[in-house]
Amino acid sequence: MTEIPDDHPRAQSLRTRHRIEEGVELGITSKQGLIAQGRGEAYDYLLGEETTPSADRAERAAAAQLLLADHPVLSVNGNVAALVPGEMVALAEATGADLEVNLFNRTDERMQAIADHLRDHGAEDVKGLAADGRIPGLDHERAKVDADGIGDADVVVVPLEDGDRAEALAEMGKTEIVIDLNPMSRSAQTAAIPIIDNIVRAIPNVTKHAEELRERGASRDELEAIVADFDREEALRAAEETIRQGELD
Ligand code: ATP
Repeated sequence: MTEIPDDHPRAQSLRTRHRIEEGVELGITSKQGLIAQGRGEAYDYLLGEETTPSADRAERAAAAQLLLADHPVLSVNGNVAALVPGEMVALAEATGADLEVNLFNRTDERMQAIADHLRDHGAEDVKGLAADGRIPGLDHERAKVDADGIGDADVVVVPLEDGDRAEALAEMGKTEIVIDLNPMSRSAQTAAIPIIDNIVRAIPNVTKHAEELRERGASRDELEAIVADFDREEALRAAEETIRQGELD
């Protein structure tokens, strides 16, 4: 990988892009994943490439929602696996969540490569390979989930999810936490908790909030209050306003 100097103004963005390129080379990210990355970069640029105060509130609400869940599951696709494999494992540990591989363009090779990649980053149990459950209303390949994973989950984190699946999961009654840099995407619009932030910043920050809430023994009442106080419409509105104002330095 080409060395990117720390003082390069776009250093973080370029490193993220290289991780996606490497993901394609490793066979964990699809070519469509490159396009998704490009769309994400454009929104991130307009958001100032930082976690806004509104996104931080969403990340705290997500942490509280995950700690309240009976069976939380974190969904991992090819971009997520390339960008934040270790960070997803850390979030799963901090919240007692399962990890499930979940691909838009599902092939056995890529499912296996992603599961192996997560194990290389410390995951013990990776779901998604059994594919013995179905999401109603989707075509055959895209409907596949594990019956004891997303099929059984009450709370799901779906980063960079496609709109159809996000809508179908919400219709199944799952509480969805979506991470997407586009506040106007159908996935973000569908989410109970839309996090409008780059996944490379969002996942470690949700983990940090979860650890903080756990370490000081936050009660169920307090966690429920954090979730109840979160205003999804306001979060979407604030992100769209930041993007449209485009106050760039
Ligand atoms: P929808 O159907 O939800 O409207 P889409 O299927 O058209 O969306 P894709 O083209 O699949 O969307 O793009 C994936 C989404 O992931 C885009 O909205 C993009 O902003 C977002 N995205 C890409 N990279 C990241 C990232 N690193 N962090 C967060 N979001 C990202």
